[in-house]
Amino acid sequence: MRKLACLGVGLVLLTVSSRAALPPIDADRLLDHIKVLASDEMKGRADGSPELNRAADYIAEQFKNIGLIPGGDVSADLSADARRATAEAPSAKAETLAARAGDRGWFQPFELVAGLAVGSGNSLVLSDRGRSVNLVLGSTYYPLSTVPNESPETPSQQLESLPLVFAGFGLSAAQASYDDYAGLDVSGKAVLIFSHEPQETDRNSPLNGNRPMPESTLYRKAETAHNRGARVLLVVSDPSHTTDEGLYHSFEVMPDADEAGMPVLRVRRNEVQPLLDAWGLDALAVQINRDLRPRSKPLNMARVDYTEYLAHDRRPVRNVVGIIPGSDPAKAGEAIVIGAHYDHVGLGGRLSVTPDRTGEIHNGADDNASGTASIIEIARAAMAERERFPRTLIFVAFAGEERGLLGSAHYVKAPPVSLANTVAMLNLDMVGRARGAVDVSGLNTGNLKTDLMAAAQATGGLEIKQEGPGAGRSDDSNFLDARVPAVNFFTGFHTDYHRPTDDWDKIDKEGTARVAALALEFAARIAQGSQLRR
Ligand SMILES: [Zn+2]
Ligand SMILES: [Zn+2]
Repeated sequence: MRKLACLGVGLVLLTVSSRAALPPIDADRLLDHIKVLASDEMKGRADGSPELNRAADYIAEQFKNIGLIPGGDVSADLSADARRATAEAPSAKAETLAARAGDRGWFQPFELVAGLAVGSGNSLVLSDRGRSVNLVLGSTYYPLSTVPNESPETPSQQLESLPLVFAGFGLSAAQASYDDYAGLDVSGKAVLIFSHEPQETDRNSPLNGNRPMPESTLYRKAETAHNRGARVLLVVSDPSHTTDEGLYHSFEVMPDADEAGMPVLRVRRNEVQPLLDAWGLDALAVQINRDLRPRSKPLNMARVDYTEYLAHDRRPVRNVVGIIPGSDPAKAGEAIVIGAHYDHVGLGGRLSVTPDRTGEIHNGADDNASGTASIIEIARAAMAERERFPRTLIFVAFAGEERGLLGSAHYVKAPPVSLANTVAMLNLDMVGRARGAVDVSGLNTGNLKTDLMAAAQATGGLEIKQEGPGAGRSDDSNFLDARVPAVNFFTGFHTDYHRPTDDWDKIDKEGTARVAALALEFAARIAQGSQLRR
């Protein structure tokens, strides 16, 4: 009995190790892709940039060399290459090629908003009686939020001679019994506030001690003013700060803003100081800071004129899609999507953690050249052992993730295999810094957790964690919303996240290869599994 049991165990182990005989992922080849995608020449792969297009071409080229079949849109973008091959090849070969490609190209093109198109004629004027200050967009003021239109030729806002109201720090915090808007009528008016909050360095402040209150984010301040009917919100640097932290230059380099329902304009303190002095606002801030009694008030004769020519800057981008048809005709109609976004934040700007470093290339080696390189090498390894994949594998490099998961949103609207027949989605977003562990989310459907653990045991070398930010923070989210089980692989945030220092030399290439091997082995189990209904 015991011997038999032992033999049994031996057999199982043998089975596991032979199942794990997928060709290993080559860490150096993987790193080579990361070096290309995260090179300075790619300028941070901003959505809508020519460099993102080059990255897409590179990925398509890899898919093609590996032997994938194009899975992008039908005919519209059939690559010139494929056309030429079809034209030149002997007819039999051409037919095969055409049939294989099914007239699909490598790309799924779509449009996204990649910031703002700035027209001419933008102006902001603050005046009071004889005195007036003319501000200049991108130099002495810039929008934190706008309501852009579709053409920079027509004004997106035209506000004339609006009365101006001072609303302290722009806070309405019921739980702290502090309300800059109490008894204040701002409806149809312009509102001027200071940045930050009173008593911000005081540990004992009732306004959340020395930590910022949730109400003091600019988004909440905009919402607060907007809900009370304000037409435009002007934000001036809090007088307790010696430097104006406004990012006037970064707007000029990469025009972009939130859309919080109304224009919110950051105004440079230096220029408006004479008016602040005339209105005595810095002195009021000092008093508020002392006793937390709001001192909001209409600035009776003050007026604001604001003309804005800002439009959505819509640009074409492309998902890249390659397919390995399932080896079992009975199961090949069902697919597993293996995806990673290949876009990043370009030269920084609003999407950077350090917007003050706008203009520097944010290379995005971990985010997400690492995932992109991984899906390329997963495809190569799967291609080398196709019989292990009875179901079809669809490899997708998504654009538009950094702009709001837009590439995956586009994919789920037009997938080459219907979502009803898509049994699972595996997403790799930031897998370049494993150092022995990977966080895996989205395992709570069917056998996914068992399969993943078995795959981890077969491939080895990685501790599986389930403590990260969880599912739904990346492109997996759009699949989950479409009721496709979706699993995300992630090796953790770090201090280089969305900063210019996310470079290839900080990549743990062996660790990345292990994560890729794990995803591959996991995919093989899902590709074989019979019971996978959600
Ligand atoms: Zn990412
Ligand atoms: Zn990112």
